[in-house]
Amino acid sequence: MGGGAVLRQVSDYRGQELIDGVMSVIDKYRPLHVSIVGGEPLVRYKELNAILPMIEARRIHMQVVTSAVRPIPMEWMNLANSRVVVSIDGLPPEHDVRRKPATYERILKNIEGRTITVHCTVTRQMTERPGYLHEFVEFWSARKETRKIWISLFTPQVGETSYEILPPDARAAVLEELFLLSKKFPKLHMTKGMVDVYAHPPTDPAHCIFARTTTTLTADLQSRIMPCQFGGRPDCSQCGCVASAGLQAVANYRLPLGIRAGSIYEASVKVGEIVSRVKRRQER
Ligand code: SF4
Repeated sequence: MGGGAVLRQVSDYRGQELIDGVMSVIDKYRPLHVSIVGGEPLVRYKELNAILPMIEARRIHMQVVTSAVRPIPMEWMNLANSRVVVSIDGLPPEHDVRRKPATYERILKNIEGRTITVHCTVTRQMTERPGYLHEFVEFWSARKETRKIWISLFTPQVGETSYEILPPDARAAVLEELFLLSKKFPKLHMTKGMVDVYAHPPTDPAHCIFARTTTTLTADLQSRIMPCQFGGRPDCSQCGCVASAGLQAVANYRLPLGIRAGSIYEASVKVGEIVSRVKRRQER
């Protein structure tokens, strides 16, 4: 983890202190979208029961990313701007080993009657058996709880050599397969624009719209994770983040006059950066 902090070392708020801390960060940054990720956010479900309606009242979109190790509160389903994303890393034999105690059996019980987005990070192991991704997408498409399926690709750090990393040919084949699967299973969100971004990711964080427009904080609600949510020195040339790909695909989209949506976006980011600099100077 980057930003000079390791999650184990940062303080972990709870109760009213957590509720007040989160809301004060939100009121400070005034984001368009908030993601609450783990560890496991559901261990603080009581605090989230208070926080999520307050975020909703500010008309901010939000998502909670969870392993669904415990039941997802039913009242969260009534929040119009809220989405629950469940991390499911492959089919039961692989997922259950990796994510125990949030096994398939528990997930299926804990999402019953809810609506969720499934998020899977594809590792090399999942690409080694033909039909694996088809089975995964087919299984989750058939579940009535699934609203969408998002797929990320394993993103290594610079110089990392772990076996999870997709070799270039496997990465290209997975992208082709996922695009075809998205035609057969519409819940799978994998547009041509996203495939293009996965195939040609930003060269570095300075060229990544996602990194430039996102602020990631650790559990102490102060330390920033840099340069993006992966922290450390992520290998942008192998970026597989679904959020980054989705945003970059929107930025690459050409508007009717041939203007790239990203040019407007980049201009607004620059204005935002200037405003932040001025604000920081005024605060000194
Ligand atoms: S790893 Fe991906 S999300 Fe992070 S800065 Fe690089 S391109 Fe952006």
